Amino acid sequence: MKIERDLLLKSYLKRLRLPTVAASYKKIAEESLAGKKDYADYLLALMEQEVINREANALRNKISLARFPVIKGLDTFDFSAVKDLNQQTILQLANCDYLDRKENIILIGPAGVGKTHLATALGVAACKKGKRIRFCTTAGLINEMLEAKDSHALNKFQARLLKFDLVILDELGYVPFTAGGGELLFQFCSERYERGSLIITTNLEFGNWVEVFGNERMTAALLDRLTHRCHILEIKGESYRFKESKKRRAH
Ligand code: ADP
Ligand code: MG
Repeated sequence: MKIERDLLLKSYLKRLRLPTVAASYKKIAEESLAGKKDYADYLLALMEQEVINREANALRNKISLARFPVIKGLDTFDFSAVKDLNQQTILQLANCDYLDRKENIILIGPAGVGKTHLATALGVAACKKGKRIRFCTTAGLINEMLEAKDSHALNKFQARLLKFDLVILDELGYVPFTAGGGELLFQFCSERYERGSLIITTNLEFGNWVEVFGNERMTAALLDRLTHRCHILEIKGESYRFKESKKRRAH
């Protein structure tokens, strides 16, 4: 009788897609009995487990989909090291309202000041809100687009990228790209305009973007679109790691 009941229960839980309930209903029942809990408390404990596990799995999936090189959060970002960056602005951005408004964020600053860290942390915050993120280096994205173009799959590739709520383009300006690459990147950014957000990190002031894109008119059109609905965050100063090692040496 009990075996039949358990089998039936397992099959219902499978159909209802409640794997955590299936895995833990017996154990939680024992605990509830021992703790003299009533039926509703038992049900609550069981549902709580299901929700906790489901949300943790969803976040794990979102984070693996995003392909962050290293996972970093705002909790480990030392705001006192970047005086010109307003902590409140970043915390507000972490609420992710800009994603619903399809706004962009551009982080400008020299190497090592925390641009990738911040972009990743904002991406992780967006994953927590259930958003779909894709992190790529600018050079990596251009390569992917060139490959897709070669195999006549560029439209498909770009359509897939448009499904992401946020694309993080890391390191614009570190590696100069070919004219073809620049055009593809221009196309990509134009297509995303008002359809999905971008976070771009770069070491280049806007005036120098033409150096990597080559074409002046295209660069002007790109900047016009990118900065139309945009939070521009400039970080000045020295590399964080350099400052840290200087501090260590001084002790
Ligand atoms: P960038 O992308 O601007 O070159 P990164 O974000 O890669 O710099 O930062 C370099 C390293 O220093 C990373 O390990 C990052 O986590 C760390 N770092 C940079 N700025 C900070 C900061 N303000 N607080 C904590 N860690 C930081
Ligand atoms: Mg970086």
